[in-house]
Amino acid sequence: NRQIILKSRPVGRPTADNFELKEIEIPTPAEGELLLKALYISVDPYMRGRMSDAKSYVEPFQVGEPINGGAVAEVTESRHPDFSAGDVVVSRPLAWQEYQTVPATSVQKVDKDSVPLSYYLGILGMTGLTAYFGLLDIGQPKKGETVVVSGAAGAVGTAVGQIAKIHGCRVVGIAGSEEKLRYLKDELHFDEVINYRTEKDMEQAIARTSPDGVDIYFDNVGGEISDAVMANINKFARISICGQISLYNATSVPTGPRIQTTILKKSALMKGFIISDYAERLPEGMAKLVEWVKEGKLKNRETVIKGFEKLPEAFIGLFDGVNTGKLVVETK
Ligand code: NDP
Repeated sequence: NRQIILKSRPVGRPTADNFELKEIEIPTPAEGELLLKALYISVDPYMRGRMSDAKSYVEPFQVGEPINGGAVAEVTESRHPDFSAGDVVVSRPLAWQEYQTVPATSVQKVDKDSVPLSYYLGILGMTGLTAYFGLLDIGQPKKGETVVVSGAAGAVGTAVGQIAKIHGCRVVGIAGSEEKLRYLKDELHFDEVINYRTEKDMEQAIARTSPDGVDIYFDNVGGEISDAVMANINKFARISICGQISLYNATSVPTGPRIQTTILKKSALMKGFIISDYAERLPEGMAKLVEWVKEGKLKNRETVIKGFEKLPEAFIGLFDGVNTGKLVVETK
């Protein structure tokens, strides 16, 4: 039974040395518990924040303890009447461990036949729900409006763009490779795409691809990309602050243009959110996502890395953009 612990807190970009693979005993479930075998484990940018000990909205990981996060797991032994071996469950957070015991009350069974199981970590999981509420509740998209999304080819970004299209918006996606841009245009029908790695003048690129200005900006990355988008917002624009991945490894806070004047002049609304803010409305979001997936309106692209031991490498890869869509690790 292998587990991955946080060996040391990363300074700047995480490296393989910050993690350690350990061998431990398979635990025995007590009354009311389940023994779970992890099938798919999620690696997420927010975990970088938990690797530091700075105060945030979730507790930091402890050095010497396993990392934990979203996972899909199979029940291999049940000591609770509502579960039997072979059931598949989601539970957050689970330790980065092949086998672990959990109280049966902490997990939810999922339908294992209608969609691939990894979907519960992406489009029908945390990132799909983040896109749903961050775009619809904060963005309030209306038909014909222009939505710009950064981190567009990632898990949240691909969902945001597709949900914006479902609502009749014009969608501009910003991502880091030509292959990702092709995917966004050809498969997800984004109207315009920008490669931020090769584009010389991002502010002009936004102006060129959003000739009527930006009504909604869904921000996954922060930093200079966001500065360029903010320079192009329309009156009454809405800005949904979902993530700031370009700054997660920063060791000092970079200063950019002060955007308060833009917000004021444009009567814009900017709001940050964390998906747990919507805890009570998650079933509503989930029902809609399931419906759109079944209707074929929402595609779930994912990048699957095989091998439990690849978890640290996969996580670090998020900062290099190794993934298109949701990045998950298949344990076998
Ligand atoms: P992604 O699947 O989007 O993976 C991360 C992507 O970010 C990479 O593929 C890479 O793509 C891009 N990226 C990495 N470094 C940079 C950089 N320096 N500048 C610009 N882009 C970069 O991850 P998620 O969809 O899971 O998460 C997207 C964002 O949403 C993250 O910031 C995350 O923290 C946030 N989030 C927030 C939640 C909330 O509740 N508020 C919940 C879930 C996620 P590329 O090749 O394009 O560079």
